[in-house]
Amino acid sequence: MSFSLARFFLHLRLGVSSNTATTRTRKSFGYLLLAPKATKFTTTAIHKDKSQKSSEEEEEEKLLVVVGGGAAGVYGAIRAKTVAPNLNVLVIEKGKLLSKVKISGGGRCNVTNGHCADNLVLADHYPRGNKELRGSFFNMHGPVDTMSWFVDRGVELKIEDDGRVFPVSNNSSSVVDCLISEAKCRGVSLQTGKAVTGASASASGKFLLKVEKRTLNSVEHVEADYLLIASGSSLQGHSLALRLGHSIIDPVPSLFTFKIEDSQLTALSGVTFSKVVAKLKLEDVQRNIPQLTQVGPMLVTHWGLSGPAILRLSAWGARYLYSSGYKGKLIVDFVPDLHIEDLKSMLSQHKNRFPKQKVHNSCPTELGLVKRFWKYILDHEGLVGDTLWASVSNNSLVSVARLLKHCTFEVKGKGQFKDEFVTAGGVPLSEIHLNTMESRIQPNLYFAGEVLNVDGVTGGFNFQNAWSGGYIAGTSIGRLAGNANLEGAIRVNRV
Ligand SMILES: Cc1cc2nc3c(=O)[nH]c(=O)nc-3n(C[C@H](O)[C@H](O)[C@H](O)COP(=O)(O)OP(=O)(O)OC[C@H]3O[C@@H](n4cnc5c(N)ncnc54)[C@H](O)[C@@H]3O)c2cc1C
Repeated sequence: MSFSLARFFLHLRLGVSSNTATTRTRKSFGYLLLAPKATKFTTTAIHKDKSQKSSEEEEEEKLLVVVGGGAAGVYGAIRAKTVAPNLNVLVIEKGKLLSKVKISGGGRCNVTNGHCADNLVLADHYPRGNKELRGSFFNMHGPVDTMSWFVDRGVELKIEDDGRVFPVSNNSSSVVDCLISEAKCRGVSLQTGKAVTGASASASGKFLLKVEKRTLNSVEHVEADYLLIASGSSLQGHSLALRLGHSIIDPVPSLFTFKIEDSQLTALSGVTFSKVVAKLKLEDVQRNIPQLTQVGPMLVTHWGLSGPAILRLSAWGARYLYSSGYKGKLIVDFVPDLHIEDLKSMLSQHKNRFPKQKVHNSCPTELGLVKRFWKYILDHEGLVGDTLWASVSNNSLVSVARLLKHCTFEVKGKGQFKDEFVTAGGVPLSEIHLNTMESRIQPNLYFAGEVLNVDGVTGGFNFQNAWSGGYIAGTSIGRLAGNANLEGAIRVNRV
C-alpha cells in the first residue's frame, strides 16, 4: 500500500455527508411544461399551485437538467445540488444510470490514476486535451480530490503498482452505489428510460427540452434554467450540442488493439512482454510524432497485439489510423534495454558457450524471452528446430539481433479492447470555458465528460476527465444558482 493510499484509509469517514443530507426535505419541481399539438403529454413533475408559493420560493425554483446519468452527469449533479441545495437538479438518463461505471475496468472500475501528482504530467495522458488540460482543470478537481471524495463517502480505494486506482472491494458496484446513494440523499432527481431528443434556447435564455420515453411513446417538454450535457459519446448528445450552436469534431474510436495478420504470431496468443518499445509508422504521417513511439508492456492476442503500449499508440494515433483505414507498420524493439552491439555479442558468446545445444531449446536467459517467442524469431530467420548453435553463421546471429531490435508487423485493422473503449472527438474545447465548463456560445449551457473532445489513455484517465468536468460544471452552476437565489432573496426582502 502506497503512502498516498494510507492517507485515504486514515481519512475514511463512512457516510458523513450522506447522513446530514437525508433529513433534508425534497422540493417540488416547477418545470414549465409545454404541450405541443398531437403529442401525448406526460410528466412526473409535481406541481404546486402558483398561488400557494411565496415569491421567495419562486426565486428558488431554478432547474438544472443534466443530460446523461453517467460518471460526469451524476457527479456534476451531486456537486451542483451540494453547492446550491435549493436548486432543483434533474438527471435524465436514456438507459441505466452509470452503466459504463458498472462494466468499467473489467467490473472493477478503474476510478482514476494515483501516479500523477503533477498536473502537467497528468495532462500528458490525454491525446485529445493535453494542451488545454494543463491549466486550471485538474487544479480545481484532480485525482487526489476524486479519491478523497469517494473515500469520504465510504468507498475504500487502493492504488495498484501501475497507478490505477480501484475500489478495495474490486467491485464497481461500490462506486455506482456510492454515487446513486449520494445523489438521492442530496435530493437529485434521477429519471431513467427517457432521452432528451431536442433542445433550444428561448429568448429569455432558458432551455426548452424535448424528453421522450420511447416505450410509452410519450413526450414531455421541460424548461430548464441551466443545462449540463454529459451525454458521453452518444450521437444524440452531439446533435443537442449542434442545435445549441456548437460544432462537433468527428467522433472516431480510441483505445483499441491492432489486428495483425500473422498466423505464427497469433498462435502465440497469451504471450506477454513486460517492456517493449513500439513505434507506429503511417504512410500519411511523415513528420516525427514522439507519442507514436510508446514504451511499456505488450500482449499477443488471437487478433494481433494489445497491452498498454499498443493501446497508448491506438489513442495517440486514433485520428491518423482512422484516416489510413487502420493500416500501418508497427516496429517493435523486444529488448529495448540492450544496445544492438551488446545484443550481437551476447548471442555470439552464447553460441561459443553452448555450441552443441539446439538453438530452439537454448535462448540466452538475459533476454528474458519465453520459449515460444524465441522459436518464432528463429523460424523467421530460417533457423529450424534441429540447428545447433555451432552451425549458426555470424550473419544469422546479426539477423536475429536485428529482428529482436526491429521487428516489423503489418497493422491490418482495428481489433477490440473489451476493458476500455472511448471516443475521440465531440465538442471542441475551444468552445467552452474550462474553468467553469460553460459554453462560450450559449450562456448557462455546460458540458462535461466524453461529450467533449477529450480522451485519455488507459489507467483511469477517462473517468478522471468525467469527474473533473462534472465537478467544475456542478460547482459553477451551483454558485450561479446560489447567487441567483441570494439576489432573489435580497430583492424579496427589499420589497
Ligand atoms: C467497457 C468500458 C470500460 C471502461 N473502463 C474504464 C475504466 O476502468 N477507467 C476509465 O477511466 N475509463 C473507462 N472507460 C471509459 C469511461 O467509461 C468513459 O470515459 C466515461 O464513462 C465517460 O463518462 P461520461 O459520463 O462522459 O459518459 P458516459 O459514461 O458514456 O455517460 C453518458 C450517459 O448519457 C446517456 N445519454 C446519452 N445521450 C442521452 C440523451 N440524449 N438523453 C438521455 N441520456 C443520454 C447515456 O445513456 C450514458 O449513460 C471504459 C469504457 C468502456 C466502454
